[in-house]
Amino acid sequence: MGQLIGKVAFITGAGSGIGRGIALRLAREGADICIPDIDQEGARMTADLVTQLGRQALVLKANVASHLQIQAAARDCVDRFGRLDIAVANAGIGRGGSVLDMPLKDWQDQIDVNLTGVFLTVQAAAQQMARLGNGGRIVCISSLAALNTSGTMWAYSATKVGVAMMVRGWAQDLGSHRITVNAIGPGVIETPLAAGLAGEPQGAIRSSLETRTPVGRVGQPDDIAGLVNFMAGPDGAFMSGSYVVMDGGLRDSRGSWEPDPKAAEEQQRLFGQAVERRMKMQPLLDDRS
Ligand code: NAP
Repeated sequence: MGQLIGKVAFITGAGSGIGRGIALRLAREGADICIPDIDQEGARMTADLVTQLGRQALVLKANVASHLQIQAAARDCVDRFGRLDIAVANAGIGRGGSVLDMPLKDWQDQIDVNLTGVFLTVQAAAQQMARLGNGGRIVCISSLAALNTSGTMWAYSATKVGVAMMVRGWAQDLGSHRITVNAIGPGVIETPLAAGLAGEPQGAIRSSLETRTPVGRVGQPDDIAGLVNFMAGPDGAFMSGSYVVMDGGLRDSRGSWEPDPKAAEEQQRLFGQAVERRMKMQPLLDDRS
């Protein structure tokens, strides 16, 4: 504990799920945290938790798909703390569907957030790091879906393959500024985004997932946060351009992405909840001014 004392971390989408887990983990290690997110309520909740850990937090309203908003967020972070040492391009969305009828908007939103949003986040953070001259650590959250896909997840997978490849180029590009860049490929992690894949505790989806996962459980945000902490800390100094899968062994398991047909009722219910959540956040996502 304490390996990040004096550091400042800029974590997109830390108002929920994996991003919140990363924020709390890095705060426990001593970092102050900037939280650019479209979900201001979630971001404030994360900020409260960071403050309870004795660190400072700054909530920023930023859509990663907006060049202006993410540039302003990175500037605000440096104005407030005077530095920016760690950036995590974590914000992401998922839009599944058949190629026969996926709306162009669903495709475009995923490209805008998962691919362009990662580019804009890394660009904004790296520009500040290069200007300040203290080096830096950048971690991009890709997915196991960069390696495996399905008949409905192909568009999401395309964005995550892009992230896994971009970090290799950025590692070359930014090395002379003493900035490392790596990607993580999480398997199924229990968050609102993955509710349909992770299922509910004691539910049919969860039980099937646990059977198919060699370590016998669903992933938690803190699992991924531990790896980010490694990449951001002294032990990760020699790692750059890597894409590391953390999935409990699910990658090589049969039918890793397809839900159990016995779980159709639970699947339907969780799908309904995901659509509701999505309708609530869509206007925030559409605001790119
Ligand atoms: P999550 O719980 O939905 O959290 C994502 C956060 O990002 C939410 O606060 C969300 O706001 C915010 N966000 C969405 N679009 C944004 C935008 N355009 N600008 C700024 N913030 C935005 O999802 P998660 O599961 O933690 O996912 C985090 C990352 O891990 C994503 O990149 C995802 O693709 C990746 N991942 C997740 C899993 C998994 O199993 N959970 C597996 C592999 C990879 P709203 O709450 O308003 O949506």
